Amino acid sequence: MEFDGIKALVTGGASGIGLAAARLLAERGAAVACLDLNAAPDPFHTVKADVTDDAAVRTAVNEAAQHLGGLDVVVNNAGIGAQGTVEDNDDVEWHRVYDINVVGMVRVSRAALPYLRESSHAAIVNTCSIAATAGLPDRALYSATKGAVLSLTLAMAADHLREGIRVNCVNPGTADTPWIGRLLAKAADPEAERAALEARQPSGRLVSPEEVAAAIAYLAGPLASATTGIDLAVDGGMQGLRLRPR
Ligand code: NAD
Repeated sequence: MEFDGIKALVTGGASGIGLAAARLLAERGAAVACLDLNAAPDPFHTVKADVTDDAAVRTAVNEAAQHLGGLDVVVNNAGIGAQGTVEDNDDVEWHRVYDINVVGMVRVSRAALPYLRESSHAAIVNTCSIAATAGLPDRALYSATKGAVLSLTLAMAADHLREGIRVNCVNPGTADTPWIGRLLAKAADPEAERAALEARQPSGRLVSPEEVAAAIAYLAGPLASATTGIDLAVDGGMQGLRLRPR
């Protein structure tokens, strides 16, 4: 996993899985910029943008490419959670979450593709989720957005294969990020809720952001040079063993 000379843009790079990916890529030699609503911690250059704002995304991606001197890798990772069945979220909420989790990745990819075409090591890695295929209870909207990310990954892998741009995604299980911290903080009994989340993982523990980052870096890097259009589960066995949390 050598990334010397590789220029990488990580969306949602200010927190959680994105920040862990930015750190790992930088540690292995990549020049990294983060696209986020919030500033990523030092030493990362942040281009601030909301992925729902097409003009802001274009400006931010161009600025990142200028700062880095091009783009080889895009990690499309910015995303938000949503709870509930189809009865719990109205159309406005469906459109809002879909706009961030799916169209956000489309906007960033569209702005980045002209730069990636200039690269001889071009790769896009999308952060999907086991929710795409697991049939998770109480996650209809979130699961549908991640199902779309999985389909988008496959379609883009096909479209850009002959251009030398690989497109893959990672499917994390429940990962111990600030997002989960915020979810637990809202629970009546956060410790019991954490124990429940751990218990529904086949491995009996949450995935770490660093474990997801390792899969992202593998798919983004030269070791995966013949790999495109796959989803790599980082979920303590849930997808591979076809286990469904209750
Ligand atoms: P996080 O909340 O810790 O980090 C998400 C980052 O995305 C934040 O820095 C936030 O500012 C940024 N972001 C959110 N909305 C944005 C927007 N509109 N424009 C620009 N930036 C925006 O969350 P995380 O757990 O690290 O999640 C990262 C990705 O991993 C998401 O796509 C999520 O769906 C996916 N995922 C997370 C888990 C989990 O259990 N944590 C599991 C599976 C998949």
